[in-house]
Amino acid sequence: MTAQRIDGNALSQKLRAEVTSRTQVLKAKGITPGLAVILVGENPASQVYVRNKVKACQDSGLHSLLEKYAEDMTEKALLDRIESLNQDPSIHGILVQLPLPKHIDSQKVIEAISPHKDVDGFHIASAGALMTGMPGFWPCTPYGCMKMLENIGYDLKGKHAVVIGRSNIVGKPMAMMLLQKNATVTICHSATPDLKAMTLQADVIVAAVGKRNVLTADMVKPGAVVLDVGMNRNDEGKLCGDVDFDGVEKVASYITPVPGGVGPMTITMLLVNTLEAAERL
Ligand code: NAP
Repeated sequence: MTAQRIDGNALSQKLRAEVTSRTQVLKAKGITPGLAVILVGENPASQVYVRNKVKACQDSGLHSLLEKYAEDMTEKALLDRIESLNQDPSIHGILVQLPLPKHIDSQKVIEAISPHKDVDGFHIASAGALMTGMPGFWPCTPYGCMKMLENIGYDLKGKHAVVIGRSNIVGKPMAMMLLQKNATVTICHSATPDLKAMTLQADVIVAAVGKRNVLTADMVKPGAVVLDVGMNRNDEGKLCGDVDFDGVEKVASYITPVPGGVGPMTITMLLVNTLEAAERL
């Protein structure tokens, strides 16, 4: 068996076209969805991420505001800026690029964003809404994974999903979303004694660890669906995921490549969340 690839670029293109047309509908009513992106410091990876997010907004007709601040910006100055963006009617979504410099408390900053503008879905109110099945913003990366499953017509009801990783931004919300769609969910992490015993039982595996080859072909049940969230560099410096793609591709039924899988979906779901923040007004 050779797995079918789930093409995150193609699905993103389709979803972004929908964002563009829904944005035009809002614009006709005098509302332009707006995203504020805040970057503090000079982290090179963060610079690339924020540039891509702003460009994606522009391409879909959304208003975007990129604010770059020096590494030594005080926590108070950042909190004050967020408060004024909370009050700004032209801004529907606020994103603070992580990681922040060490002297700034990231959690405090996230909690300062109005839950109505929390398009990253990291606020405790958004996490609570997801946990309880209430309306709220879903974190973009796991939300993108759910869209990929939806797009292949995969019915999670009664299936066993194994999530590897339990971070607040990927693993835990991923598990909640899968649970909401009636999967039976197992969450694995660094203290899981026998990862292979868990993954071999899985119909769906989401790898969100940040280590190459965490999932190899011998750990995958034939026909399983494998979503690779990881972003790592191989020995040649090329982007790769957590999954041994060449091996697992021969066992799985569907698999996401890296690059070109979950990555583009993350930005796409950010656009969707920003649009929905504006539509909810
Ligand atoms: P994180 O906060 O570092 O969490 C990693 C998780 O993996 C932790 O829960 C950790 O367990 C677990 N883990 C570590 N080693 C393990 C092992 N050997 N077996 C099983 N579990 C293990 O990372 P994250 O923010 O969730 O991100 C995960 C990966 O996704 C990274 O490569 C990141 O770059 C990537 N990512 C990609 C996107 C995208 O758009 N494609 C978005 C976000 C993140 P403990 O909790 O026990 O430490």
